[in-house]
Amino acid sequence: MSIESQINRLRELLPSGVRLLAVSKFHPAEAIMEAYRAGQRAFGESRPQELKQKYETLPKDIEWHMIGHLQTNKVKYIAPFVHLIESLDSERLAEEVERQAVKCNRVIDCLLEIHLTAEESKSGWAWDDLLGFVQSGGFAALPHIRVRGVMGMATLTDDEAVVRADFERLMERRACLKEYFGEEFDIVSMGMSDDYPIAVECGSTEVRIGSTIFGAREY
Ligand SMILES: *Cc1c(COP(=O)(O)O)cnc(C)c1O
Repeated sequence: MSIESQINRLRELLPSGVRLLAVSKFHPAEAIMEAYRAGQRAFGESRPQELKQKYETLPKDIEWHMIGHLQTNKVKYIAPFVHLIESLDSERLAEEVERQAVKCNRVIDCLLEIHLTAEESKSGWAWDDLLGFVQSGGFAALPHIRVRGVMGMATLTDDEAVVRADFERLMERRACLKEYFGEEFDIVSMGMSDDYPIAVECGSTEVRIGSTIFGAREY
């Protein structure tokens, strides 16, 4: 199926409250433009330099989302234009995003990426650390970060019950965090090509879909 027909198919499948983020990492500008011509405007990338380069060459009405692990020394590449940093996962990174946002004179929207799986390798904030930081008013000292919600990745497994339990845990944590943030804490980014139907059932408001739209990635 073409990129355009995948975009159209997903748009029909997804309920109206669920946004589609097209994950274009490792795919060339032509592929992004095909999705763009099908009306897609929100794209997700995992590497800051690739994100910056695509931002510079592609249409300016694209919303660029940073979804991959972000090293503090690379925040500067994306701070001037990024639409949403979905992978905010440590105090140190939050402080650097604040610093770069001040330099650019903007407020940057971010999601708190929460570690959900038993696997050590997956990124994300450890829950106790995150809750401690939020409860101690950590974000109050970072006025150039606007926390818009949460992001999480489920365990990579065929066992639907495990995936569902991960997404349900993210929803619980989000409910617990909501009291510390305002009305604008309204995004739940969960669900990828292999698990988005479950994520949508569990309450996702944004699915991040790459390979279903663009095909396999060549690393
Ligand atoms: C690559 C990636 C995706 C998209 O994965 P697909 O399986 O290709 O849909 C979603 N979220 C994050 C954080 C990713 O790194």
